Amino acid sequence: MSQQLFDLSGQVAMVTGCSTGLGQAMAIALAQAGCNIVAIGVSDPKETVTAIEQAGQRCHVIHADLAQVNDMAKLVSEAVEAFGQLNILVNNAGIIRRADAVDFTEADWDAVMDVNIKSLFLLSQAAAKHWIGQHSKGKIINIASMLSFQGGIRVPSYTASKSGVLGLTRALANEWAKYNINVNAIAPGYMATNNTAALQADVQRNQEILARIPAERWGQPADLAGPVVFLASAASDYMHGHTMAVDGGWLAR
Ligand code: NAD
Repeated sequence: MSQQLFDLSGQVAMVTGCSTGLGQAMAIALAQAGCNIVAIGVSDPKETVTAIEQAGQRCHVIHADLAQVNDMAKLVSEAVEAFGQLNILVNNAGIIRRADAVDFTEADWDAVMDVNIKSLFLLSQAAAKHWIGQHSKGKIINIASMLSFQGGIRVPSYTASKSGVLGLTRALANEWAKYNINVNAIAPGYMATNNTAALQADVQRNQEILARIPAERWGQPADLAGPVVFLASAASDYMHGHTMAVDGGWLAR
């Protein structure tokens, strides 16, 4: 019974930005739970494809810069053409730009907002239109951040975008829960990936961060495996609009 609740056999998950880091770990976890994967991104997800195939599943790769795509419906159609259906969307692609707020450029503001929040909204909208049109269930999992809850420092557009992800997760859930579309988010804590390479390399910041994490370690991408499968599965069918922290206890401090 409990295993069935988390079984995703025969389902199809679209994961954005899964060539590295958290997206890669989540795509592999979803494949291990039974999904075929549609990988969308700007960089080659070679390693991810190999791991998905090792899990006995298939991966369809779509090369797309989500900041530039003006027809998200095409991405959804291509996923459906590849595997006959789409059940899960993980909006993971994201970037960060660091500079003092007084010096922060409009270009850095737009670049981050375009990927982290605008593309997330438009792709979610395209997936929801597809599911509502054919009366099928759907699961949307957005990737938020500790900066959905906190202000951060030197990352104004990132904080704005990720605070937006938390709000939008609620807003979309309010409209789409009645269609059996679950919109939820995962807020990772400090995870060891490219996104945080600068923080990990800064000896002082690294020590400050570690000292504040109750689990006393950086999160690893695989720490998101269980949470993403849970939010993609029937086990979370009555969860709507929730942003779930996976943070080693960071927010509990
Ligand atoms: P990452 O840099 O390894 O992964 C980001 C992915 O997004 C890459 O695959 C990249 O190619 C893709 N991407 C970037 N711009 C894109 C675009 N325009 N179009 C398509 N794909 C694009 O870093 P990560 O840490 O794995 O980040 C994944 C997500 O997790 C991001 O949304 C990030 O903000 C979020 N996050 C990370 C942390 C952390 O501590 N690492 C914490 C909280 C949230």
